[in-house]
Amino acid sequence: MKLNATAEMEAISWPGFADLHPFVPADQAQGYAELIDGLESALAEITGYAGVSVQPNAGSQGELAGLLAIRGYHVSRGDADRDVCLIPASAHGTNAASAVLAGLKVEVVATAPDGEVLLDDLRAKLENHGPRVAAIMITYPSTHGVYEEHVREVCDLVHDAGGQVYIDGANLNALVGLARPGEFGGDVSHLNLHKTFCIPHGGGGPGVGPVAVAEHLVPFLPGDPLVASPSATPVSGTRFGSAGILPISYAYVALMGPDGLTEATKVAVLAANYVASRLHHHFPVLYTGPNGLVAHESILDLRRITAETGVTAEDVAKRLMDYGFHAPTLSFPVAGTLMVEPTESEDLAELDRFVDALVAIRGEIDAVASGRWSVEESPLRGAPHTAAALTADTWGRPYSRELAAYPVASLRGAKYWPPVRRVDGARGDRNLVCSCPPIESYASAPQTAPLS
Ligand SMILES: *Cc1c(COP(=O)(O)O)cnc(C)c1O
Repeated sequence: MKLNATAEMEAISWPGFADLHPFVPADQAQGYAELIDGLESALAEITGYAGVSVQPNAGSQGELAGLLAIRGYHVSRGDADRDVCLIPASAHGTNAASAVLAGLKVEVVATAPDGEVLLDDLRAKLENHGPRVAAIMITYPSTHGVYEEHVREVCDLVHDAGGQVYIDGANLNALVGLARPGEFGGDVSHLNLHKTFCIPHGGGGPGVGPVAVAEHLVPFLPGDPLVASPSATPVSGTRFGSAGILPISYAYVALMGPDGLTEATKVAVLAANYVASRLHHHFPVLYTGPNGLVAHESILDLRRITAETGVTAEDVAKRLMDYGFHAPTLSFPVAGTLMVEPTESEDLAELDRFVDALVAIRGEIDAVASGRWSVEESPLRGAPHTAAALTADTWGRPYSRELAAYPVASLRGAKYWPPVRRVDGARGDRNLVCSCPPIESYASAPQTAPLS
């Protein structure tokens, strides 16, 4: 994702931020309170909403908090029957999961071939479920990487039916400074500070998924877990969730300022379009807007290549490691594709290095197509190549070690060595190996005395 600058990261290890207990008396955490207030206000301004809570620890938890707010709002108005949540087929899997957790019934709205929400199907679903519609959850720009032209119309249709509009803000990197979900039709959104606001992403580390709501939903924001409230349901065990990493996002917003944040969005969208326009001759870009442009990411469609040559999106992802790149998102939101989101953080030289690698890989795919190697014996299927495999006494492949390790000249100066070869990724998921002691060993263990 994007750069996690040292200047943004540094403060989280300072004792003043790192060593506070989440339930320290408020008068001992005034600095934190100021920081949290400042960040919540900045996020409210960026999104166009009236109130923000940083309590949720992930985007998915922000979704739950947002849907509970919607549910609480309907119930408070005597609309307890509104329990249907409309979700477009293109949505992130967490959307449906959150809706179910919030006690709602999921109704899927079809997407058109161009990736947009199918308005006719939306009208039909609203017709069917009208007085039971609690909300729609849409993502803008969508997970298909386009700014949906009809987003206002979608919001209006749902509002007219008495439903609320949840706008999934995971793709806010394409909006900050340019458009505000609270203005174009949203009642509630979550943000992902570990996507858009520089908190390091990945490795299962803590995240922050603030929930932002319009005025009428403010009373239903997550409450204090230590104070019982009928409406404000907490979604985490502490008031401010992953408070210890908020200084990162605070620093990012403060260092960038309004103009800097807007500029970052423009550069992110430009970078995505640069990559898409350089690559689409080699790998078709699956979805684009009416003007042929993408938003902040593009989906490279490998399915035809796979049908014609046997080379899969996974082969390309693994081969990219030999070229020194972490693979892009694989098979999401469409199976058999790669989704590339360069963000604003990479300079032109790095974007070109990435595109050049993919163009070279396309050349390797063409060599498979023309029969130079079979797909099984190609450097694509053999990837990634470790130093151990390359320096072993036996090689036995129809391509050279040099092609395996140094497919482009620039790698001679800076080579990343993948540490492990390919494993069957799905095998591990399908064959659970438990490394804990067998259950019988607990039965024979000496009984511990009960606590008195
Ligand atoms: C990442 C993402 C989420 C979920 O966020 P987490 O922080 O991973 O829980 C939800 N919706 C969309 C569109 C996303 O991209």
